[in-house]
Amino acid sequence: MRIMGIYAHPADVATEAAGTMAIHADRGDELTAVVLSDGIRMHPHFLTVGEGATDPEPVSHAEYAEFKRDEVRRAAAIIGIATTEFLGWDRDFFTATDERVEALARLIVAHRPDVILTHYPVGPYLIDSNAFAGIYATRAMELATTLIPQVDGVEPHYVRELFFFLMDQSMDTRSNIDTPGIVADFYVDTTAVIGRKVQAFDQFVSQGYEGQFARKVVEARDGRHGMHAESSYAEPFLLSRSVTHDALPVSPRLLDKTYVANNLPGDQLLAQAVPSATPPEAYRLRR
Ligand SMILES: [Zn+2]
Repeated sequence: MRIMGIYAHPADVATEAAGTMAIHADRGDELTAVVLSDGIRMHPHFLTVGEGATDPEPVSHAEYAEFKRDEVRRAAAIIGIATTEFLGWDRDFFTATDERVEALARLIVAHRPDVILTHYPVGPYLIDSNAFAGIYATRAMELATTLIPQVDGVEPHYVRELFFFLMDQSMDTRSNIDTPGIVADFYVDTTAVIGRKVQAFDQFVSQGYEGQFARKVVEARDGRHGMHAESSYAEPFLLSRSVTHDALPVSPRLLDKTYVANNLPGDQLLAQAVPSATPPEAYRLRR
């Protein structure tokens, strides 16, 4: 399969669906990460309280963007994402112009993904930039199917499946039959690759995500999703439309499952034990 992740900000490449992407990388699938903005004003940690705060030299927007893009490139290498694309839409992010939607549609057409993973594009009135990335992605996906060779100079492309990864802010907790908000349609068990997710976090020193923070978040978030998913770690997803199966969709892992009374998840407490993967150059502002 070809799988494309479309992310609002650089660090989303590590924080959202990184484990699922790592699993598909190991299966030989072809992965692309498209990062819509450089997220510079959202997380100025490195320049305000991090190592960059004591650097007397001013840094340009472009230089800092490149510093953050390097973080994505290192994280992508750890996860197994072969290709990274950056659109740099830091200004006017909440304006999904026709030009931007077409630019993203042309990236979709160029990479021809079977599956797109992106942010859930629905939120409260004050929709955040993560959710807005889902608006860009879904609009561009639609446009990609309707491009005309004679007019647009490219073949159209139909994306077979669209899954939304569920960020903390877009979901309620599960396990109640009447949970009022957004709940996961399915989980991917990311236990086998959780170390790589932690080490992908380690690359984002611009946001202070390395070290203890990475381990804390992965244990608290992915570990919590794992408790719902009956695994040590898991990532939650939402379907974008109804799915047709050839028969009842019972997961192979359930068919193989032996019932064990009082079987508690979380026996593999790996996140805290993952060694640091932050290289020295991650703290170097200039090349
Ligand atoms: Zn984000």
